[in-house]
Amino acid sequence: MRLLLIEDNRRLADLLADYLDKSGYRVDRAESLAMAHDFCAVASYDVIVLDLGLPDGDGFSFLADLRRSGDSVPILILTARDGIDSRIKGLDLGADDYLLKPFHNDELAARLRALLRRPENFLGHSLRCGNLSLNANERKVEISEQPLSLSRREVDVLEIMLRRSGHIVTKQALMEAMHETGDALSDNALEVSIHRLRKKLQAGGSTCEVKTVRGIGYMADGPNP
Ligand code: CA
Repeated sequence: MRLLLIEDNRRLADLLADYLDKSGYRVDRAESLAMAHDFCAVASYDVIVLDLGLPDGDGFSFLADLRRSGDSVPILILTARDGIDSRIKGLDLGADDYLLKPFHNDELAARLRALLRRPENFLGHSLRCGNLSLNANERKVEISEQPLSLSRREVDVLEIMLRRSGHIVTKQALMEAMHETGDALSDNALEVSIHRLRKKLQAGGSTCEVKTVRGIGYMADGPNP
């Protein structure tokens, strides 16, 4: 697994690179946005760890540039900015997860593993999370091969969540994605749908859960199928 670490604090970068190296990643280190752009121009990464405050600019702009260019590499933001706004901004710009400094290395490793799981769900027609599966073409949902009856809206919400399983989906992003399906639903209607969906998944014995990330959004997560 090839990882690009973009962090200008040398001490932190040394510690992280050492830890990640021992965890089996091939780590490249960039201390500025310019270096990060150079690395990305010549190498392709499985995952990027991005600090926000960098000497030649803001990590947000790097993230936005990368997503604009169509690069969907998983990105985890490291941030000391504890404001919820900056976390939401990062996720809305296309980051996959964030970690607040200071953090424990083991937590970073666990988040990275989650990001690297199930990338096939991004594009595939058959989406899986735990014992739950959704066939995106036929709009059919099954738990352990048993059909589960959901409303059209619930299937749509579930599909968006499963395409990002193991990643946080902000409320805003979820509502925008629903809007694109032609179903412009209110904040309240979204919460009601999530609530119903969760109950049906539980009742059906799903090992995939739709978790609430307080103040930010939701995440579908479950054991590897
Ligand atoms: Ca920094």
